[in-house]
Amino acid sequence: MSPNNLEHWLRAYEFERGIGDSLAPMVDSKAQPLAGEVALVTGASRGIGRAIALELAAQGADIGVNYSASAEAADMVAEQIRELGRRTHVVQADISDSAAVTAMTKAVTAELGAPTILVNNAGITRDMLAMRMKSADWDAVVGTNLTGSFLATQSVLRGMLRARKGRIITIGSVIGTVGNAGQANYAAAKAGLAGMTRSLAHELGSRGITVNLVAPGFIQTDITADLSDEVINNVMQRIPLERLGLPADVAPLVAFLAGPGGAYITGQVIHVDGGMVMG
Ligand code: NAD
Repeated sequence: MSPNNLEHWLRAYEFERGIGDSLAPMVDSKAQPLAGEVALVTGASRGIGRAIALELAAQGADIGVNYSASAEAADMVAEQIRELGRRTHVVQADISDSAAVTAMTKAVTAELGAPTILVNNAGITRDMLAMRMKSADWDAVVGTNLTGSFLATQSVLRGMLRARKGRIITIGSVIGTVGNAGQANYAAAKAGLAGMTRSLAHELGSRGITVNLVAPGFIQTDITADLSDEVINNVMQRIPLERLGLPADVAPLVAFLAGPGGAYITGQVIHVDGGMVMG
């Protein structure tokens, strides 16, 4: 690890644990590659979505903060975005609900302008072996992770097509690539997102819109908080970098894809997993 990377990681680590009070040390005031952009981040009240919203704001974008249940947590994220000097609008919407998604994008567009960056981050798990999986749990996971990402994407397309630019970044999972016992619903939804990403990349490339899937490995958030020590130890054996990931390990890649550096990257599935899944 180079000294710069080490420093970045240590700061991210401190931030995740609430040791650092703000993102200020990570922000270089001259480096605002996303200035003038409007980003809509789904499920942005906590975890990976929150880290992405703050990273995009730190790099200059105004942020639409979507949440489903926790208004208080979403307001706290918005407060941090304002402290970074950016505009923000908080909007409640269940992303699996088509009418709610349309209203969400309309509200963000009215307050901040049409989104030029969409981050499809909202997701859930409902794990169970296939033999015993309830169809409601299949539907909920596919409805939120896959259909929700499609609906949110559709809702921003008109604005992006008009602007002839856009960055659509969806959060998949390594599980969509390698599968996992007890996660047939989640793996199917995340694998579906890879197909959706490639199809949209074909469809939208000529309009200056890039579409990519960022596929994290095991990241320490509420979604992984309940895993047993045994599962964590098993996972750790398969991670060459010998640690679980942090939301702040994922956010910089999303910001890179959203910025000038991502201009010639589309239709890709990029793993952020400490080397867990290669090739
Ligand atoms: P998390 O549970 O902390 O965050 C998920 C967010 O999505 C929450 O803010 C939640 O309120 C929101 N959400 C859930 N259903 C929603 C709905 N119907 N409408 C709107 N918002 C909704 O978990 P996380 O780990 O931060 O997960 C973020 C994304 O990263 C998910 O797509 C998840 O599948 C993916 N991911 C996570 C990991 C990991 O190890 N944590 C690994 C791979 C992929």
